[in-house]
Amino acid sequence: MLKVLKFGGSSMASAAQYEKVKAIVEQDAARTVVVVSAAGKRGKDDHKITDLLYLCHAHVRYGVSCDAVFGMICQRYLEIRDALGLQTDLESELAAIRTEMENGMSEAALASRGEYLSARLMADYLGFDFVDATEWLRFRMDGSVDREWSYAALRKLAAGRKLVIPGFYGAMADGSIRTFTRGGSDITGALAAAALDADVYENWTDVSGILMADPRIVEDPEPIPRVTYSELRELSYLGAQVLHEDTIFPVAEKNIPLNIRNTNDPSHPGTLIMERFDEDAGGDDERRFITGIAGKKDYSVVSISKRGLSSEVGAIRKVFEIFETLGLAVEYTPNGIDTFSLVVSGSKLEKVLHSAISQLEEKLAPDRVEVTKDLAIVAAVGRRMANRPEIPGRIFTALGREGIRIRLISQGPCEVNVILGVDGKDFAAAVRVLYDSFVK
Ligand code: ADP
Ligand code: ASP
Ligand code: MG
Repeated sequence: MLKVLKFGGSSMASAAQYEKVKAIVEQDAARTVVVVSAAGKRGKDDHKITDLLYLCHAHVRYGVSCDAVFGMICQRYLEIRDALGLQTDLESELAAIRTEMENGMSEAALASRGEYLSARLMADYLGFDFVDATEWLRFRMDGSVDREWSYAALRKLAAGRKLVIPGFYGAMADGSIRTFTRGGSDITGALAAAALDADVYENWTDVSGILMADPRIVEDPEPIPRVTYSELRELSYLGAQVLHEDTIFPVAEKNIPLNIRNTNDPSHPGTLIMERFDEDAGGDDERRFITGIAGKKDYSVVSISKRGLSSEVGAIRKVFEIFETLGLAVEYTPNGIDTFSLVVSGSKLEKVLHSAISQLEEKLAPDRVEVTKDLAIVAAVGRRMANRPEIPGRIFTALGREGIRIRLISQGPCEVNVILGVDGKDFAAAVRVLYDSFVK
């Protein structure tokens, strides 16, 4: 049994959090590979070390002294070390970073030092070996990860050892450091789990799993006990963001379960994410049809009306071509016989609106082009909605009862979601109505 654990910024923010991490790791002998983030915020008004490192780089680039910002970074790590009574020689590590900065250290190399210092400290604290990400996580020139090379390298390094690995970065073939986009330590953890064929990838953060709805809209929403990879894709696309969006591919490919857990409440089972669940019948939560509710504001709908549009060969292709050349992603396409509608980002459409309309008029000669602005998309996602024809009806009834007008409807053929367009002003109310009707 082998478990790969990733601890996020809040779990690495202070000495007190390190103590919790140690207790979690030592509770289970299978927890032998630990991936860590840079120190995150200790409270609402605190700073993430990664933000401070980017800020340092900007100071240096503009020739402004970064002493104050760099001092905050040093202070945080030295404080953690001293509070834990560790002997790690951070002074020379920090001095080396400082010297490199003066010699034109790249932004990525500097940004990666948060994870590096966290991993050095955590390795000492746990008594595990430190293995640098540059030793195994290899990027190709196009920015993708060379998985074959990386997996083989990590397998060799990890054999029979207990390791702490810094998240967020790796190296190019020439040794230069490259990072993922923000939040990328989640991906490092997933890659390590896949490389080592782990039995589970535990992602430890500051919430007890993925919540069924945005906590800024619904008061104290419940965590989702179990969610499939495809449900999670739907939910995170529409805003439920706990994991970096590239996290699931490496683990899904190898069918490794991903378990989101709370460092501050380690006995909570959190959310389990898997390809599929066989026993979708039992348990209280299993009686729920909806796994989660997510949504986003700022959409616009462009509706093109023309008599005989559906039978006009190539018309839809022309519409898509126009949006493609304008660089606008089309998110949904609800349509009727003589109307074809495209749901796109409102702010992006705004920038190219005149060009879009004139091109549509020129290439399609429509009877009418209409733009509806300020639309919100709300999605009810749930694998158990499939083969339950009454669910969409119940959703409409619940929204209708509250006077919420549904502007568009779309249901994917796999029936894992029902997508609704509502007026922007009704967004929060729609999310709440769905939560109250189907979860509470
Ligand atoms: P870490 O530093 O551990 O990687 P993140 O800040 O990246 O943690 O992700 C955890 C945060 O994601 C939570 O604290 C919460 O504010 C936010 N979040 C956004 N949407 C959701 C959701 N649907 N369920 C749970 N957390 C969410
Ligand atoms: N420290 C990096 C960031 O803040 C990576 C991570 O935490 O996952 O984005
Ligand atoms: Mg994160």
